[in-house]
Amino acid sequence: MSDNYRQETICIQSGWKPKNGEPRILPIYQSTTFKYDDSDQMGRLFDLEENGYFYTRLQNPTNDAVAAKITELEGGVAGMLTSSGQAANYYAIFNICEAGDHFVCSSTVYGGTFNLFGVTMKKMGIDCTFVDPDASEEEIGKAFRPNTKALFAETIANPALVVVDIEKFARITHSHGVPLIMDNTFPTPINCQPFKWGADIVTHSTTKYMDGHAMCVGGCIVDSGNFDWTRYPDKFPGLTQPDESYHGIVYTERFGKGAYITKATAQVMRDLGSIQSPQNAFLLNVGLETLHLRVPRHCENAQKVAEFLNGHERVAWVNFAGLPDNPYHALAQKYMPKGTCGVISFGIKGTREETVAFMDRLKMIAIVTHVADARTCVLHPASHTHRQLNDEQLLEAGVKPDLIRLSIGLEHVDDIIEDLKQALEQ
Ligand SMILES: *Cc1c(COP(=O)(O)O)cnc(C)c1O
Repeated sequence: MSDNYRQETICIQSGWKPKNGEPRILPIYQSTTFKYDDSDQMGRLFDLEENGYFYTRLQNPTNDAVAAKITELEGGVAGMLTSSGQAANYYAIFNICEAGDHFVCSSTVYGGTFNLFGVTMKKMGIDCTFVDPDASEEEIGKAFRPNTKALFAETIANPALVVVDIEKFARITHSHGVPLIMDNTFPTPINCQPFKWGADIVTHSTTKYMDGHAMCVGGCIVDSGNFDWTRYPDKFPGLTQPDESYHGIVYTERFGKGAYITKATAQVMRDLGSIQSPQNAFLLNVGLETLHLRVPRHCENAQKVAEFLNGHERVAWVNFAGLPDNPYHALAQKYMPKGTCGVISFGIKGTREETVAFMDRLKMIAIVTHVADARTCVLHPASHTHRQLNDEQLLEAGVKPDLIRLSIGLEHVDDIIEDLKQALEQ
Protein backbone atom coordinates (compact mmCIF):
# COMPACT_ATOMS: atom_id res chain seq x y z
CA MET A 1 0.00 0.00 0.00
CA SER A 2 2.98 2.29 0.43
CA ASP A 3 4.08 2.30 -3.19
CA ASN A 4 1.80 5.15 -4.31
CA TYR A 5 1.29 3.64 -7.72
CA ARG A 6 -1.29 4.89 -10.19
CA GLN A 7 -4.58 2.97 -10.64
CA GLU A 8 -3.31 1.23 -13.80
CA THR A 9 -0.29 -0.12 -11.95
CA ILE A 10 -2.31 -1.10 -8.88
CA CYS A 11 -4.65 -3.16 -11.12
CA ILE A 12 -1.65 -5.15 -12.35
CA GLN A 13 0.89 -5.17 -9.54
CA SER A 14 -1.00 -4.89 -6.27
CA GLY A 15 -2.27 -7.66 -4.01
CA TRP A 16 -0.03 -10.69 -4.55
CA LYS A 17 3.60 -9.66 -4.03
CA PRO A 18 5.74 -12.80 -4.41
CA LYS A 19 8.97 -13.14 -2.53
CA ASN A 20 12.11 -14.69 -4.01
CA GLY A 21 11.31 -17.97 -5.77
CA GLU A 22 7.55 -17.79 -5.17
CA PRO A 23 4.95 -18.12 -7.98
CA ARG A 24 4.75 -15.00 -10.14
CA ILE A 25 0.97 -15.36 -10.46
CA LEU A 26 -1.40 -15.33 -7.50
CA PRO A 27 -1.80 -18.98 -6.44
CA ILE A 28 -5.20 -20.45 -5.66
CA TYR A 29 -4.90 -21.60 -2.06
CA GLN A 30 -7.43 -24.37 -2.57
CA SER A 31 -7.33 -25.44 1.05
CA THR A 32 -9.91 -25.21 3.79
CA THR A 33 -7.28 -25.26 6.47
CA PHE A 34 -3.69 -24.45 7.43
CA LYS A 35 -1.18 -26.53 9.39
CA TYR A 36 0.62 -25.56 12.61
CA ASP A 37 3.28 -27.37 14.63
CA ASP A 38 2.50 -25.65 17.88
CA SER A 39 -0.80 -25.91 19.73
CA ASP A 40 -0.26 -22.63 21.58
CA GLN A 41 0.17 -20.74 18.35
CA MET A 42 -3.15 -22.11 17.07
CA GLY A 43 -4.72 -20.90 20.31
CA ARG A 44 -3.30 -17.40 19.82
CA LEU A 45 -4.73 -17.31 16.29
CA PHE A 46 -8.17 -18.16 17.65
CA ASP A 47 -7.85 -15.38 20.22
CA LEU A 48 -6.92 -12.89 17.46
CA GLU A 49 -3.67 -12.30 19.33
CA GLU A 50 -1.61 -13.32 16.36
CA ASN A 51 -2.14 -12.87 12.65
CA GLY A 52 -2.32 -16.00 10.54
CA TYR A 53 -4.49 -18.35 8.56
CA PHE A 54 -6.30 -21.25 10.15
CA TYR A 55 -9.62 -21.73 8.38
CA THR A 56 -10.74 -20.41 4.99
CA ARG A 57 -14.15 -19.29 6.27
CA LEU A 58 -12.25 -16.57 8.14
CA GLN A 59 -9.31 -15.86 5.89
CA ASN A 60 -7.54 -17.29 2.88
CA PRO A 61 -4.34 -15.93 1.26
CA THR A 62 -5.83 -15.84 -2.27
CA ASN A 63 -8.85 -13.87 -1.09
CA ASP A 64 -6.73 -11.55 1.03
CA ALA A 65 -4.47 -10.63 -1.90
CA VAL A 66 -7.49 -9.71 -4.03
CA ALA A 67 -9.15 -7.79 -1.19
CA ALA A 68 -5.88 -5.87 -0.71
CA LYS A 69 -5.86 -4.89 -4.39
CA ILE A 70 -9.44 -3.57 -4.27
CA THR A 71 -8.66 -1.78 -0.99
CA GLU A 72 -5.73 -0.04 -2.63
CA LEU A 73 -7.81 0.90 -5.69
CA GLU A 74 -10.35 2.53 -3.38
CA GLY A 75 -7.70 4.18 -1.21
CA GLY A 76 -8.89 2.37 1.93
CA VAL A 77 -7.10 0.73 4.86
CA ALA A 78 -8.71 -2.73 5.01
CA GLY A 79 -11.04 -4.88 2.95
CA MET A 80 -12.67 -8.27 2.74
CA LEU A 81 -14.22 -10.37 0.00
CA THR A 82 -17.68 -11.85 0.30
CA SER A 83 -19.51 -14.49 -1.74
CA SER A 84 -21.73 -11.89 -3.45
CA GLY A 85 -22.61 -8.22 -3.57
CA GLN A 86 -25.72 -9.03 -1.54
CA ALA A 87 -23.56 -10.50 1.23
CA ALA A 88 -21.27 -7.43 1.12
CA ASN A 89 -24.17 -5.01 1.60
CA TYR A 90 -25.79 -7.16 4.27
CA TYR A 91 -22.53 -7.50 6.24
CA ALA A 92 -21.64 -3.83 5.82
CA ILE A 93 -24.86 -2.88 7.64
CA PHE A 94 -25.14 -5.85 10.00
CA ASN A 95 -21.60 -5.21 11.28
CA ILE A 96 -22.87 -2.03 12.99
CA CYS A 97 -26.63 -2.63 13.35
CA GLU A 98 -28.55 -5.07 15.49
CA ALA A 99 -32.22 -5.70 16.30
CA GLY A 100 -33.77 -2.41 17.38
CA ASP A 101 -31.44 -0.30 15.24
CA HIS A 102 -32.28 1.75 12.20
CA PHE A 103 -30.51 3.05 9.09
CA VAL A 104 -31.33 5.33 6.18
CA CYS A 105 -30.98 4.36 2.52
CA SER A 106 -31.37 6.10 -0.80
CA SER A 107 -34.57 4.84 -2.44
CA THR A 108 -32.87 4.42 -5.81
CA VAL A 109 -30.86 1.31 -5.06
CA TYR A 110 -30.52 -2.04 -6.78
CA GLY A 111 -33.70 -4.15 -6.49
CA GLY A 112 -31.94 -6.86 -4.49
CA THR A 113 -30.67 -4.29 -2.00
CA PHE A 114 -34.11 -2.66 -1.75
CA ASN A 115 -35.59 -6.04 -0.85
CA LEU A 116 -32.78 -7.01 1.55
CA PHE A 117 -33.06 -3.74 3.47
CA GLY A 118 -36.80 -3.18 3.22
CA VAL A 119 -38.08 -6.71 3.76
CA THR A 120 -35.53 -9.25 4.98
CA MET A 121 -33.57 -7.11 7.44
CA LYS A 122 -36.84 -5.73 8.77
CA LYS A 123 -37.69 -9.30 9.80
CA MET A 124 -34.46 -9.31 11.81
CA GLY A 125 -35.62 -6.18 13.65
CA ILE A 126 -33.39 -3.76 11.75
CA ASP A 127 -35.46 -0.95 10.33
CA CYS A 128 -34.65 1.02 7.18
CA THR A 129 -36.10 4.31 5.95
CA PHE A 130 -35.77 5.00 2.22
CA VAL A 131 -35.20 8.62 1.18
CA ASP A 132 -35.21 10.43 -2.15
CA PRO A 133 -31.50 11.01 -2.88
CA ASP A 134 -32.30 14.32 -4.59
CA ALA A 135 -34.13 15.70 -1.54
CA SER A 136 -32.57 18.55 0.45
CA GLU A 137 -30.18 17.97 3.34
CA GLU A 138 -32.89 19.06 5.73
CA GLU A 139 -35.43 16.66 4.26
CA ILE A 140 -33.05 13.67 4.32
CA GLY A 141 -31.94 14.64 7.84
CA LYS A 142 -35.53 14.20 9.04
CA ALA A 143 -35.26 10.45 8.44
CA PHE A 144 -32.56 10.14 11.15
CA ARG A 145 -33.51 8.88 14.62
CA PRO A 146 -31.53 8.41 17.83
CA ASN A 147 -31.04 4.71 16.91
CA THR A 148 -29.91 5.42 13.30
CA LYS A 149 -26.53 3.80 12.59
CA ALA A 150 -25.71 4.53 8.93
CA LEU A 151 -26.67 6.11 5.63
CA PHE A 152 -26.41 3.90 2.55
CA ALA A 153 -26.47 4.84 -1.14
CA GLU A 154 -25.16 3.74 -4.54
CA THR A 155 -22.73 6.13 -6.24
CA ILE A 156 -24.60 5.43 -9.50
CA ALA A 157 -27.88 3.68 -8.86
CA ASN A 158 -28.65 0.43 -10.67
CA PRO A 159 -30.78 0.73 -12.79
CA ALA A 160 -32.07 4.28 -12.13
CA LEU A 161 -28.61 5.73 -12.98
CA VAL A 162 -29.08 8.47 -10.40
CA VAL A 163 -25.70 9.99 -9.48
CA VAL A 164 -25.58 10.72 -5.77
CA ASP A 165 -24.16 13.98 -4.42
CA ILE A 166 -21.57 12.24 -2.23
CA GLU A 167 -20.45 15.39 -0.37
CA LYS A 168 -24.05 16.23 0.51
CA PHE A 169 -24.62 12.71 1.80
CA ALA A 170 -21.37 12.83 3.80
CA ARG A 171 -22.38 16.13 5.45
CA ILE A 172 -25.77 14.71 6.47
CA THR A 173 -24.35 11.48 7.88
CA HIS A 174 -21.46 13.06 9.73
CA SER A 175 -23.69 15.69 11.31
CA HIS A 176 -25.61 12.73 12.78
CA GLY A 177 -22.48 10.91 13.93
CA VAL A 178 -22.85 7.87 11.68
CA PRO A 179 -20.86 6.52 8.72
CA LEU A 180 -21.70 6.87 5.03
CA ILE A 181 -21.67 3.50 3.26
CA MET A 182 -21.57 3.64 -0.54
CA ASP A 183 -22.08 0.82 -3.03
CA ASN A 184 -19.56 1.80 -5.72
CA THR A 185 -20.29 -1.10 -8.10
CA PHE A 186 -21.16 0.90 -11.23
CA PRO A 187 -18.38 3.51 -11.50
CA THR A 188 -15.72 1.26 -9.88
CA PRO A 189 -12.72 3.02 -8.30
CA ILE A 190 -11.42 3.66 -11.82
CA ASN A 191 -14.10 6.32 -12.31
CA CYS A 192 -14.91 7.34 -8.74
CA GLN A 193 -13.28 6.98 -5.32
CA PRO A 194 -16.02 7.79 -2.79
CA PHE A 195 -13.53 8.06 0.12
CA LYS A 196 -12.12 11.22 -1.46
CA TRP A 197 -15.53 12.84 -1.08
CA GLY A 198 -16.26 11.77 2.50
CA ALA A 199 -17.69 8.24 2.26
CA ASP A 200 -16.50 5.98 5.10
CA ILE A 201 -17.14 2.48 3.80
CA VAL A 202 -17.48 1.22 0.25
CA THR A 203 -19.08 -1.99 -0.97
CA HIS A 204 -19.01 -3.73 -4.34
CA SER A 205 -20.75 -6.37 -6.29
CA THR A 206 -17.53 -7.60 -7.90
CA THR A 207 -19.82 -9.66 -10.13
CA LYS A 208 -20.06 -6.62 -12.42
CA TYR A 209 -17.17 -4.63 -13.95
CA MET A 210 -14.49 -5.89 -11.53
CA ASP A 211 -14.90 -9.46 -12.73
CA GLY A 212 -16.04 -8.03 -16.03
CA HIS A 213 -16.53 -11.31 -17.87
CA ALA A 214 -19.68 -12.62 -16.16
CA MET A 215 -17.79 -15.52 -14.61
CA CYS A 216 -18.18 -15.23 -10.84
CA VAL A 217 -20.64 -13.81 -8.35
CA GLY A 218 -18.73 -11.96 -5.64
CA GLY A 219 -18.59 -8.96 -3.35
CA CYS A 220 -16.22 -6.80 -1.38
CA ILE A 221 -16.28 -4.36 1.56
CA VAL A 222 -13.58 -1.71 1.98
CA ASP A 223 -13.11 0.56 5.00
CA SER A 224 -11.52 4.01 4.62
CA GLY A 225 -10.45 3.91 8.28
CA ASN A 226 -11.71 7.50 8.58
CA PHE A 227 -14.78 7.04 10.75
CA ASP A 228 -13.92 7.40 14.43
CA TRP A 229 -16.17 4.86 16.18
CA THR A 230 -14.75 5.78 19.58
CA ARG A 231 -16.34 9.25 19.33
CA TYR A 232 -19.75 7.55 19.56
CA PRO A 233 -19.10 4.59 21.87
CA ASP A 234 -22.74 4.19 22.83
CA LYS A 235 -23.84 4.06 19.21
CA PHE A 236 -21.40 1.37 18.15
CA PRO A 237 -21.01 -0.92 21.16
CA GLY A 238 -20.10 -3.86 18.91
CA LEU A 239 -16.87 -2.06 18.01
CA THR A 240 -16.13 -0.12 21.19
CA GLN A 241 -17.15 -2.58 23.93
CA PRO A 242 -15.83 -6.07 24.76
CA ASP A 243 -16.80 -8.91 22.42
CA GLU A 244 -17.64 -11.83 24.70
CA SER A 245 -17.25 -14.25 21.80
CA TYR A 246 -13.55 -13.28 21.76
CA HIS A 247 -12.77 -13.21 25.47
CA GLY A 248 -13.66 -9.57 25.80
CA ILE A 249 -11.64 -8.14 22.91
CA VAL A 250 -12.45 -4.46 22.11
CA TYR A 251 -12.04 -4.08 18.35
CA THR A 252 -11.31 -0.34 18.31
CA GLU A 253 -8.67 -0.73 21.04
CA ARG A 254 -6.93 -3.73 19.56
CA PHE A 255 -7.22 -3.00 15.84
CA GLY A 256 -7.52 0.79 15.50
CA LYS A 257 -8.37 1.68 11.92
CA GLY A 258 -8.76 -2.03 11.14
CA ALA A 259 -11.56 -2.44 13.72
CA TYR A 260 -14.54 -2.48 11.37
CA ILE A 261 -13.14 -5.03 8.90
CA THR A 262 -11.65 -7.19 11.66
CA LYS A 263 -15.03 -7.39 13.36
CA ALA A 264 -16.77 -8.11 10.03
CA THR A 265 -14.32 -10.96 9.43
CA ALA A 266 -13.85 -12.38 12.92
CA GLN A 267 -17.47 -12.15 13.98
CA VAL A 268 -19.94 -11.67 11.12
CA MET A 269 -18.14 -13.86 8.57
CA ARG A 270 -17.23 -16.43 11.23
CA ASP A 271 -20.89 -16.80 12.17
CA LEU A 272 -22.68 -16.28 8.84
CA GLY A 273 -20.06 -17.67 6.50
CA SER A 274 -20.68 -16.04 3.09
CA ILE A 275 -17.08 -16.39 1.95
CA GLN A 276 -15.86 -16.08 -1.59
CA SER A 277 -14.22 -19.24 -2.88
CA PRO A 278 -10.48 -18.83 -3.57
CA GLN A 279 -11.13 -20.11 -7.09
CA ASN A 280 -13.53 -17.22 -7.72
CA ALA A 281 -11.14 -14.76 -6.09
CA PHE A 282 -8.44 -15.90 -8.53
CA LEU A 283 -10.75 -15.24 -11.50
CA LEU A 284 -11.78 -11.89 -10.02
CA ASN A 285 -8.12 -10.96 -9.84
CA VAL A 286 -7.68 -11.72 -13.54
CA GLY A 287 -10.59 -9.37 -14.22
CA LEU A 288 -9.10 -6.65 -12.02
CA GLU A 289 -5.85 -6.72 -14.00
CA THR A 290 -7.64 -5.15 -16.98
CA LEU A 291 -10.24 -3.05 -15.14
CA HIS A 292 -8.40 0.17 -16.01
CA LEU A 293 -8.57 -0.70 -19.73
CA ARG A 294 -12.09 -2.04 -19.84
CA VAL A 295 -13.96 0.64 -17.87
CA PRO A 296 -12.98 3.53 -20.17
CA ARG A 297 -13.99 1.48 -23.25
CA HIS A 298 -17.36 0.60 -21.71
CA CYS A 299 -17.92 4.33 -21.09
CA GLU A 300 -16.75 5.40 -24.54
CA ASN A 301 -19.02 2.86 -26.27
CA ALA A 302 -21.95 3.79 -24.00
CA GLN A 303 -21.52 7.48 -24.80
CA LYS A 304 -21.80 6.79 -28.55
CA VAL A 305 -24.79 4.46 -28.11
CA ALA A 306 -26.57 6.98 -25.85
CA GLU A 307 -26.06 9.68 -28.49
CA PHE A 308 -27.40 7.35 -31.20
CA LEU A 309 -30.51 6.45 -29.15
CA ASN A 310 -31.07 10.08 -28.20
CA GLY A 311 -31.27 11.01 -31.87
CA HIS A 312 -33.58 8.16 -32.93
CA GLU A 313 -37.23 8.94 -33.65
CA ARG A 314 -38.55 5.70 -32.13
CA VAL A 315 -36.85 6.37 -28.81
CA ALA A 316 -38.99 8.19 -26.23
CA TRP A 317 -36.27 9.01 -23.71
CA VAL A 318 -32.66 8.17 -22.81
CA ASN A 319 -31.10 8.26 -19.36
CA PHE A 320 -27.31 8.43 -19.35
CA ALA A 321 -25.37 10.94 -17.28
CA GLY A 322 -22.88 11.41 -20.12
CA LEU A 323 -25.56 13.30 -22.11
CA PRO A 324 -25.33 17.07 -21.45
CA ASP A 325 -29.08 17.48 -20.87
CA ASN A 326 -29.19 14.70 -18.25
CA PRO A 327 -30.23 15.96 -14.78
CA TYR A 328 -27.19 14.19 -13.26
CA HIS A 329 -24.66 15.44 -15.82
CA ALA A 330 -23.18 18.09 -13.51
CA LEU A 331 -22.85 15.69 -10.56
CA ALA A 332 -21.26 13.11 -12.86
CA GLN A 333 -18.76 15.70 -14.13
CA LYS A 334 -17.82 16.51 -10.56
CA TYR A 335 -17.56 13.03 -9.06
CA MET A 336 -16.63 10.95 -12.12
CA PRO A 337 -15.12 13.26 -14.76
CA LYS A 338 -13.59 10.34 -16.70
CA GLY A 339 -17.00 8.73 -17.26
CA THR A 340 -19.81 7.09 -15.30
CA CYS A 341 -20.39 3.50 -16.42
CA GLY A 342 -21.48 1.51 -19.45
CA VAL A 343 -25.12 1.19 -18.46
CA ILE A 344 -27.82 3.20 -20.23
CA SER A 345 -31.55 3.14 -19.67
CA PHE A 346 -34.12 4.20 -22.23
CA GLY A 347 -37.71 3.77 -23.30
CA ILE A 348 -39.17 3.36 -26.76
CA LYS A 349 -42.36 4.95 -28.01
CA GLY A 350 -45.25 2.51 -27.79
CA THR A 351 -46.79 -0.03 -25.46
CA ARG A 352 -45.17 -2.43 -23.04
CA GLU A 353 -45.73 -5.21 -25.62
CA GLU A 354 -43.78 -3.20 -28.19
CA THR A 355 -40.91 -2.80 -25.72
CA VAL A 356 -40.76 -6.56 -25.27
CA ALA A 357 -41.03 -7.13 -29.07
CA PHE A 358 -38.12 -4.71 -29.64
CA MET A 359 -35.96 -6.66 -27.21
CA ASP A 360 -36.88 -9.95 -28.88
CA ARG A 361 -35.77 -8.57 -32.28
CA LEU A 362 -32.21 -7.92 -31.09
CA LYS A 363 -29.75 -10.36 -32.67
CA MET A 364 -26.33 -9.92 -31.04
CA ILE A 365 -27.51 -8.16 -27.90
CA ALA A 366 -28.91 -10.84 -25.61
CA ILE A 367 -31.58 -10.68 -22.93
CA VAL A 368 -29.59 -11.45 -19.83
CA THR A 369 -30.03 -10.89 -16.08
CA HIS A 370 -26.71 -9.16 -15.76
CA VAL A 371 -24.97 -5.89 -16.38
CA ALA A 372 -21.45 -4.65 -16.64
CA ASP A 373 -19.63 -7.41 -18.46
CA ALA A 374 -17.87 -7.65 -21.80
CA ARG A 375 -21.04 -8.58 -23.77
CA THR A 376 -23.75 -6.06 -24.52
CA CYS A 377 -27.06 -7.11 -22.99
CA VAL A 378 -30.55 -5.85 -22.23
CA LEU A 379 -33.16 -6.37 -19.56
CA HIS A 380 -36.63 -5.03 -18.83
CA PRO A 381 -36.55 -4.54 -15.03
CA ALA A 382 -40.35 -4.27 -14.68
CA SER A 383 -40.69 -7.78 -16.18
CA HIS A 384 -37.48 -9.23 -14.75
CA THR A 385 -35.28 -8.02 -11.85
CA HIS A 386 -37.91 -5.77 -10.25
CA ARG A 387 -41.03 -7.82 -10.97
CA GLN A 388 -41.74 -8.20 -7.24
CA LEU A 389 -42.28 -4.42 -6.97
CA ASN A 390 -45.61 -2.75 -7.78
CA ASP A 391 -45.78 0.32 -10.06
CA GLU A 392 -45.55 2.73 -7.13
CA GLN A 393 -42.48 0.98 -5.69
CA LEU A 394 -40.99 0.84 -9.18
CA LEU A 395 -41.23 4.62 -9.54
CA GLU A 396 -39.87 5.10 -6.01
CA ALA A 397 -36.86 2.99 -7.01
CA GLY A 398 -36.43 5.24 -10.05
CA VAL A 399 -37.56 2.54 -12.49
CA LYS A 400 -40.13 3.54 -15.08
CA PRO A 401 -42.37 0.65 -16.20
CA ASP A 402 -41.13 1.09 -19.81
CA LEU A 403 -37.44 1.27 -18.81
CA ILE A 404 -35.05 -0.90 -20.81
CA ARG A 405 -31.68 -1.40 -19.16
CA LEU A 406 -28.92 -1.66 -21.73
CA SER A 407 -25.44 -2.66 -20.60
CA ILE A 408 -22.88 -1.74 -23.21
CA GLY A 409 -20.08 -4.22 -23.72
CA LEU A 410 -16.70 -4.17 -25.36
CA GLU A 411 -17.72 -5.14 -28.92
CA HIS A 412 -17.14 -2.65 -31.76
CA VAL A 413 -19.57 0.16 -31.08
CA ASP A 414 -20.84 0.17 -34.68
CA ASP A 415 -21.99 -3.45 -34.35
CA ILE A 416 -23.87 -2.57 -31.16
CA ILE A 417 -25.54 0.41 -32.85
CA GLU A 418 -26.44 -1.58 -35.98
CA ASP A 419 -28.18 -4.26 -33.90
CA LEU A 420 -30.19 -1.62 -32.01
CA LYS A 421 -31.00 0.14 -35.28
CA GLN A 422 -32.39 -2.97 -37.02
CA ALA A 423 -34.49 -3.88 -33.96
CA LEU A 424 -35.87 -0.31 -33.70
CA GLU A 425 -36.64 0.02 -37.40
CA GLN A 426 -38.12 -3.39 -38.24
C1 LIG B 1 -25.63 -6.59 -8.72
C2 LIG B 1 -25.60 -5.58 -7.66
C3 LIG B 1 -25.66 -5.94 -6.31
C4 LIG B 1 -25.81 -7.38 -5.87
O1 LIG B 1 -24.66 -8.08 -6.17
P1 LIG B 1 -24.60 -9.68 -6.41
O2 LIG B 1 -23.15 -9.88 -6.67
O3 LIG B 1 -25.49 -9.99 -7.56
O4 LIG B 1 -25.07 -10.31 -5.15
C5 LIG B 1 -25.56 -4.94 -5.37
N1 LIG B 1 -25.44 -3.66 -5.72
C6 LIG B 1 -25.40 -3.27 -7.03
C7 LIG B 1 -25.26 -1.83 -7.36
C8 LIG B 1 -25.47 -4.21 -8.04
O5 LIG B 1 -25.44 -3.83 -9.32
